[in-house]
Amino acid sequence: MAELNIQHVDKIYDNNVQAVFDFNLDVKDGELIVLVGPSGCGKSTTLRMIAGLEDISAGHLFLDGRDITQTPAKDRDMAMVFQNYALYGHMTIYENMAFSLTLRKENPNVIHKKVLAAAEILGLTSQLNKKPSQLSGGQRQRVAMGRSIVRNPKVFLFDEPLSNLDAKLRGATRREILLLHKRLQATMLYVTHDQTEALTLADRIVCMSMGHVQQVGTPLELYDSPANRFVASFIGLPPMNFFDATVREGELEGRGFRVKLTEEENGALLPYAGKEIELGVRPEDVQGGGEIAMNVFSNENLGMNTLVHGHIGEAAGNRISAKLRGWYDYKEGDSVNVVFSRKHFFDKETGEAIGRGKNA
Ligand code: ADP
Repeated sequence: MAELNIQHVDKIYDNNVQAVFDFNLDVKDGELIVLVGPSGCGKSTTLRMIAGLEDISAGHLFLDGRDITQTPAKDRDMAMVFQNYALYGHMTIYENMAFSLTLRKENPNVIHKKVLAAAEILGLTSQLNKKPSQLSGGQRQRVAMGRSIVRNPKVFLFDEPLSNLDAKLRGATRREILLLHKRLQATMLYVTHDQTEALTLADRIVCMSMGHVQQVGTPLELYDSPANRFVASFIGLPPMNFFDATVREGELEGRGFRVKLTEEENGALLPYAGKEIELGVRPEDVQGGGEIAMNVFSNENLGMNTLVHGHIGEAAGNRISAKLRGWYDYKEGDSVNVVFSRKHFFDKETGEAIGRGKNA
């Protein structure tokens, strides 16, 4: 059992920089939570406060109902995996994995069993006598995880564990972490700036910006029903397109283009009649065959899809990327008729999503 309750947590550093504002989260036993957001948004600070590596300026942290806000890191029963692995170069893989248990003066037979079991889970059995320098980046990352596993902690904390790996290895290691999570059924908190990692790994995502939690939800909820413009622009790749548009009866009037609204969308936008809002459309929701003329700047063939960049209506501010299904070879200056198969609306002042859930 490992339930984590984070209540009204703030972090103010000594130089008076407030890095985290009123962070609240209930992590269920066995859940994999991903904290995601751009660099500097407070993800690592939050993770380090949970680990006990940073003081909590205000608020409380509970592990299985016990207040651990003031508990030193070593007594929190959590294990952290860092991006730089922090392996000891002069020790073998076996010794690296056994290190924390040796320090604790565990029975050598118990240590041996635990190291072998972890090595088995991670596919490192044949590497145990090697030194870290003899392993690949991905294998070293697995050793770092192995060091955590042998300790059998209540909570695993990952701080950007894949950022030193190349793209291919990142994908493979991501899948390994997922398998590991399934096997151990452990509570895990994982920090990354990479929205793909968040979408592919998380049971639930916590999306942060400038020290504030913007939205907590399943990957699908954040992708399909972003709470605000920030989440909408951060989750999804290529990023969502945004256009200024005025709400008219049954349609939106953009700069030099018009978009029809469904009855439901029209209803959701009723309070904004005559006002300007922001329309958000994901590139994958821009498809061929509609009534909006798109002028092409450039064309990228991705195989299954073609990423077409251009503008609609008046060029200024109306840039658009479309991820069309299939292979196309549009040239600069071509015109393509497109339709928006799914739309998101945002309040221009607050950035909050309008009619969320109603038009989902
Ligand atoms: P992230 O992990 O999302 O990149 P961080 O948690 O590392 O963000 O940083 C959040 C904010 O806190 C940033 O503005 C950063 O400059 C600041 N910060 C981080 N560590 C310290 C520190 N030790 N002292 C002062 N400010 C810090």
